[in-house]
Formats: sequence, C-alpha cells, structure tokens
Amino acid sequence: MEENKKSLNFIEQMIEKDLEEGRHKTVVSRFPPEPNGYLHIGHAKSICLNFGLAEKYGGKCNLRFDDTDPEKEETKYVESIKDNIRWLGFDWEDREYYASDYFDQLYIWATDLIKKGKAYVDDLPADAFNKIKGTPARPGTPSPYRERSVEENLYLFSRMKEGAFEDGEKVLRAKIDLSSPNMHMRDPILYRIKHTAHHRTGSKWCIYPTYDMAHGQSDSIESITHSLCTLEFEVHRPLYEWLIENLEIYPSKQTEFARLNLSYTVVSKRSLRELVELGHVNGWDDPRMPTISGMKRRGFTPEAVKKFADTIGVARRNGLTDVAVLEHAVREDLNKKANRVFGIMNPLKVIITNWPEDKTEMLTAINNPEDPAAGTRKIPFTQEIYVDQGDFMENPPSPGKWFRLGPDREVRLKFAYIIKCTGYKKAEDGSIEELYAEYDPETKSGQDTGRKKVKGTLGWVSASYAINAEIRMYDRLFTTENMSAIKDDFKNHLNPDSLKIISNAVVEPSLKKAKVGDQVQFERIGYFRVDEDSTQDHLIFNRTVTLRDNRNK
Ligand code: ATP
Ligand code: MG
Repeated sequence: MEENKKSLNFIEQMIEKDLEEGRHKTVVSRFPPEPNGYLHIGHAKSICLNFGLAEKYGGKCNLRFDDTDPEKEETKYVESIKDNIRWLGFDWEDREYYASDYFDQLYIWATDLIKKGKAYVDDLPADAFNKIKGTPARPGTPSPYRERSVEENLYLFSRMKEGAFEDGEKVLRAKIDLSSPNMHMRDPILYRIKHTAHHRTGSKWCIYPTYDMAHGQSDSIESITHSLCTLEFEVHRPLYEWLIENLEIYPSKQTEFARLNLSYTVVSKRSLRELVELGHVNGWDDPRMPTISGMKRRGFTPEAVKKFADTIGVARRNGLTDVAVLEHAVREDLNKKANRVFGIMNPLKVIITNWPEDKTEMLTAINNPEDPAAGTRKIPFTQEIYVDQGDFMENPPSPGKWFRLGPDREVRLKFAYIIKCTGYKKAEDGSIEELYAEYDPETKSGQDTGRKKVKGTLGWVSASYAINAEIRMYDRLFTTENMSAIKDDFKNHLNPDSLKIISNAVVEPSLKKAKVGDQVQFERIGYFRVDEDSTQDHLIFNRTVTLRDNRNK
C-alpha cells in the first residue's frame, strides 16, 4: 500500500494524462466538508490530497462547504474546519464557497429538468416509494405520480418552495430508469421539504437539494476538473454524470479513492460525536480523538500529518492503515524539533551525602543533539535530586542486566556526575522512600577523565528547584485494531486506560517559562506538549507519543 516515491499514484496518472492530452490546462480541485462536525484524520488525508494535487500541478483547490442539510449544520463547525485546514498549512485564498450559495441556481436547474420531462414531483411517502422501488434484480414499479405533466410539476415544485406543504409531503425526483441495476438511478430524490432554518440562508428556503443534486452541480459551477471523493460515492457516479449531461453544464469528473481507516480508532463524525455527547472523551479536541483539533492538542504537528498522508498515498481499495505509521511520522518530526528536558514521572528522592547542603552548581545541558542550533541551557545540581522510582531496584539482577541504580551500583546523571548508591530508606509498606548516594567529583560531565566507565545514564531534577507538573498519559482510544470490522456497539471497544493522569510528576526549572503549545521531549520517556488547561502555577503536559514504538516488544 505504500506509495513508491518515484511512481505516480493512479490519480496523478490520470491528471498527467488529462494535461498531456489537452483535456485540462491545470487542476482545479476542491475539499468539500459538510459543516456538521469536526474534521478527523480521514479528512486530513482528503485535504492533503486535494490541496496537494493542486499545488503539485500549479492549479487551485477550493474550499467548499457542502451545506445542504440545515438540521445538522452549524457555523461553529465552519469556523473549526477553516482553522483546521489553516493549521495543516493550506490556503484556499478567496475561494471559500458554499453549496448554499448556489441554491438559486440549483433551483433553476431543477425546473430545467422538469421542463425537459426529466424530473417530477412525487407525493409518495418515502417508505411507500421504497416498497415499489424493486431490488437490484427486480425492476421497480412507477410511482402513480410519475407521469404528471410538466405544468403540474412546475406548479407543485414552486408551491413546495413557497412552503405550501409539510416536511416529507412531497419530493422532487429525477425521472431516470426504474429498471437500472444501480438503485441510485431509480428516480432518486433531488429536493426535499424541510422547514428548518439554514445557518446561512436563514428561512429563505424550505426545500433543500440532496447531496446528488448539489454536489456535481457545485463542482460544475466552480469548473472543478477533478472531483475526488471516497469509494462509497462510486455508485453515485452515474447519477453525477446523468445530471451534468441532462443539464448540459460543465462536465466535472468524479474519481473515487479509498477512505482512510486507521487502526485502534474510528473515523466517522457520527461516532466521534457520540463519544463527545456521551462524555467518553472531553470534547472534540480531546487529545485521544483522531480529530485534527485533538491531534493538534495532543502535539501531532502539521508536518507529521502531511508526511503521513504522503506515506500512505492513495489506494483504490479500502484497507486498514496502522496507526504506528502516523506515530512514526510524529516521532520523526519531533525528534528534530523538540528540545530535550528532564521530567520525572514517579519521583524518588536521592540525597547526595557528600555534596554540600546549600551548594547549587549550574551545569550545561544540550537542548537537542539533533539540532545544534537549539543550543544549551543551564540546569541546577543540588544535594537532593529526583530520579524515577523505576530507576532503582533493591535486588537488581547481575550488573550486565541492570544498568540503573541499586545498592552499590553506579550510574551517570546526565550532564552531571557519576553517583554511587550507598543506601536507601524503606517505608513501612515496603516502598522505597529515599536513596542515599555519593558523587564522584572527578566525573563531571564534559570534564570527565574517563577513568570510570558506567553503562547507565539517568535523567534527574534538582529537588530544590523542581516544578510540579501534571502529566496526561494518553493511549489508544480503542482496544480493537480494526474498528471498521466490528459488529457490536463500537463503544464496547473503548480502552478503559486511554488516559492515565500522573499528578505529582516533577520537571526541571527551565520549564517555568513553558507556554501552551510548547513541545518537549522528556529524556528517555517521550514527546509532550503543554496543554491548554495549564495555568500559571499548574503545568499540564500531554503525552504526544512515546519515544519508541514498544508495543511489539
Ligand atoms: P464522516 O463519514 O466521518 O461523517 P463524511 O465523508 O461524511 O465523513 P464530509 O464532510 O462529507 O464527511 O467529507 C468531506 C470530504 O472528506 C469528502 O470528500 C470525503 O470523501 C472526505 N473524507 C471523509 N472521510 C474520509 C476518510 N476517512 N478518508 C479519506 N477521505 C475522507
Ligand atoms: Mg458526508
């Protein structure tokens, strides 16, 4: 499924052929979200594809809100969608369009179809029509209203528009082919009555075009050359073409590609909305959500998301993409960008008994070994420091198997000294309360004589200067790999441990000036981002991703 870098994917092949053979001079694509929820990683793929192709071939990509269903659509979603696309780094310039901008034109086109005898007003309720519609193997029977005269249809359609009927009382249908093996060609609905105010047109309309009536015609109005959509619309393509042909308008061309399915998550606005509404997550931008807002808050970068989209390419068949591919892209990007700092998740105090009680030494730490331009910083070293509880074992295995602390074991404290554990204190419950150690003054980092060799290097934070922090450890939202294959309620597959809160972590004092959105690597632990919930004296970090993919080990 991985795209070979040098070869073109099937959409690029098609575009290059169109350009070579003179069918088009350039690419005009569009991203057509319905403003009824927040965008997810699947949409991100579609955005990268549509804007990416326009960029590659020197064309343009429009942003078009597909807002034909007033019941579910809201302006707040329009705003979040625009924010998300900007965050990904794409620009639609002044080409911000709405299907609702075209309602007048679409209405005229519907009457054109009526005049040509290609559309009729049907009074049959939806379930009654479904009964006579037939099956793919058996032709349908005509609705008793199918042979209404053009005049009657024009009159009734105008009455529909004027609000003379209740919701569902009448519809406008295309008059196509009741024996077509494609059920979408059996007199599909073009307009339905909905006495619902629209987020942009207010109460001007009480009839609204269906997706099929609106989408291709909007493409045509905008002279879209390549209308890319997901595979479920393949069966709609004959109708897309029928409408364009019968209206004799600019022939945009629809091409389908596989939708992105990502392991251990769901990519469906409806399911994501359910999680939000039932309180399984803390909103659309919960860092566990595969929404663009969630990924941003978690600390995924636009560069990583784009790299991911590029890596997976486009396919003609639906499959399942491993979320590890996305996490890998995030790690690669943050490895270059995020400064390394010390953060201790489960602090264990170490008292360095041969270090003067009131002495602070400022040591030099490298910010990012992958990026010399990131420079260095000073970190304080004091008599009392914290290491992680996981860095000490009371009865460690033979020295070749355990390189961290244990009785009489030596380790290097990164950017500082080698220390030797000389003792420890145990609480009544058997837990380790604190360690005692001695440092070796000859082993200062950078000035080390090299006399002493130790294998283990630990992160640490001065206890006197440490800042308390809350760490939100995120894990996969679901425990099932392929959520698109499950048969039961998807909520049964929620991971109960998708969020673990560590409330008494400590981090180094340089993070005092950390602001929301800052991203760091806590040495040896993972990448983290300062969360929006942080306040002046309560720092909160989201774990973006672990340092390595440890799952298969
Ligand atoms: P959902 O099923 O999550 O509600 P949708 O397809 O209804 O998604 P739209 O707002 O209509 O959402 O989609 C906007 C564009 O994004 C469409 O062109 C659609 O095909 C594309 N898209 C949606 N989901 C995916 C996905 N998982 N992978 C790739 N493209 C997608
Ligand atoms: Mg949709």
